[in-house]
Amino acid sequence: MKVVFVGAGPGDPELLTLKAARLLQNCRCCIYAGSLVSPQVLTLLPGDAAKWDSATMTLEQTTAVCRQARDEEIDVVRLHSGDPAIYGAIGEQMLELDKLGIDYEVVPGVSSFQAAAAALKTELTAPEVSQTIVLTRIAGRTPLPPDQELDRLAQTHATLCLFLSVHKIGEVAERLAPQYGAGCPVAVVYRASWPDQKIVRGTLADIAAKVDAAEIKQTAMIIVGHALERHGGPVSRLYSHQFTHGYRS
Ligand code: SAH
Repeated sequence: MKVVFVGAGPGDPELLTLKAARLLQNCRCCIYAGSLVSPQVLTLLPGDAAKWDSATMTLEQTTAVCRQARDEEIDVVRLHSGDPAIYGAIGEQMLELDKLGIDYEVVPGVSSFQAAAAALKTELTAPEVSQTIVLTRIAGRTPLPPDQELDRLAQTHATLCLFLSVHKIGEVAERLAPQYGAGCPVAVVYRASWPDQKIVRGTLADIAAKVDAAEIKQTAMIIVGHALERHGGPVSRLYSHQFTHGYRS
């Protein structure tokens, strides 16, 4: 018996991995993050599978479901939105499973920052503009380590992908503007890959008002950085005829 932490992807069931889809279709017991996993993904579960929405449960309760499944020798699919390794709180669940001697595995998923970039049809890494992507969030009830506060990360001028932060878009913009400039492009993607996906584009100066007007308060990815500009700046040398590499001479 084992618990499989499975990435449900951003929402569109076609963005599930083949492995995730197979596990869902054969699942007998699933604990899913109900606030973020799309209903369309959940339809892959067999009708008679036991289904637990972890949004309404404590860690003790989800662990108890796993213990019970172990007693019944049934595998558990623990379904997390996007990729389980990013703000999935899987670490604490694994500690509890370790204590019980229950085995587990992880199946990765397409993260919402990737689905958001796809919705924007953008490259997050632009030659000579940004060669670094930072996945982060603004402090919420979970405080941030001081050297990872937004103002500090802003000094890198990297492309920032902010999870769990859209409700504080005003504060995000204010804290980034000194480093990125008020004119720096920002995009907010609400429910990337869902049927009701929304995209709001702006700059650090006007994005907060636009997001307010669009009434986006949660389940959105904020992407900030000059990489979002289609500026016709330097291009990658990867496909340049003057550039040879291991696969092209
Ligand atoms: N493990 C997930 C992130 C979970 S944290 C992943 O890899 O995507 C929850 C946050 O993820 C939300 O607050 C939001 O910022 C982002 N998110 C999750 N699904 C999203 C989606 N479909 N579109 C945009 N943002 C999403």
